[in-house]
Amino acid sequence: MEGMGGGGGGLTVCRWTISFAALALTRTIFSQSFLAAAAAGGGARRPRGERGSNLRIKVKMTLEEIATGVNKKIKVRKQVSCNTCNGSGARDASSVETCGTCRGAGTVNRITQTPFGVMQTAAPCPTCGGAGQTIKAPCNVCKGDGRVFGEETIEMDLPAGVHEGIQLSMSGKGNAGAKGGPAGDLIITVEELPHDDFARNGNAIVHELFISIADAAMGAQLEVPTLDGRARIKLPPGTQSGKILRLREKGLPELQSYRKGDELIHVNVWTPKKLNDEEKRLLEKLRKCPIFNPPSKEDKSFFERVREMFT
Ligand SMILES: [Zn+2]
Ligand SMILES: [Zn+2]
Repeated sequence: MEGMGGGGGGLTVCRWTISFAALALTRTIFSQSFLAAAAAGGGARRPRGERGSNLRIKVKMTLEEIATGVNKKIKVRKQVSCNTCNGSGARDASSVETCGTCRGAGTVNRITQTPFGVMQTAAPCPTCGGAGQTIKAPCNVCKGDGRVFGEETIEMDLPAGVHEGIQLSMSGKGNAGAKGGPAGDLIITVEELPHDDFARNGNAIVHELFISIADAAMGAQLEVPTLDGRARIKLPPGTQSGKILRLREKGLPELQSYRKGDELIHVNVWTPKKLNDEEKRLLEKLRKCPIFNPPSKEDKSFFERVREMFT
């Protein structure tokens, strides 16, 4: 079918193209509207209207949605094909006439005399602009434009692994074209929502974990959040503040890849702020224990180990 699909449809991410599950459905709907437009136009030729403009929207995604990919239905305000005339712009079938200038061909032949002989060229018909038809009476609703302002609920499969600012495009989901012309594209810009538990660093997610001095010194079994529920981790005794624990492949997937980032647990030892007399007495006792004081700078092995934690 002439003029259908444009770039073949699909949800396009930068230089990648993602197969789009709803595409088959999209294509069917558009095929029908074009058939209707052709029928309303008398069946001779589909009017070659102007292509619709691209439509830009922003879509918010949580890290959980980015981790798995998500199907969203979003209502957008845009120019849609006029239902009354099926996008043709004509009042009814009888108000569409075959163009008298080109007799429906859409092109006219020009014969010119040149010093090299007679030249015949085909040019778009000046009367109908190449449509092969002229409209005697325009549609009352759209005033002959073939489209009206309305809204459409668009279903989109947003892929896993996207990030803030990435643009996805859906062919033919933008503004409707004038007089039955093809629709423009829908350009979706992803907005990443901030997360309460995680910061993103590429495909890794970082969780700030606060532990008590007791857990740090004696070790503990703790629960930490992940993007798909909670995970248990084991803190070894003698865990220092600043240590980073790694949960393999608990981060975000790479776009269009099977690779996954990790979740990094950044350990912070929580220092209590307000102490009562009882707590102060306990800590005074601990202060006197040599083991509660950091080793001196001369103890190279300790500081080397600290450095390793950050690499
Ligand atoms: Zn109309
Ligand atoms: Zn014509």
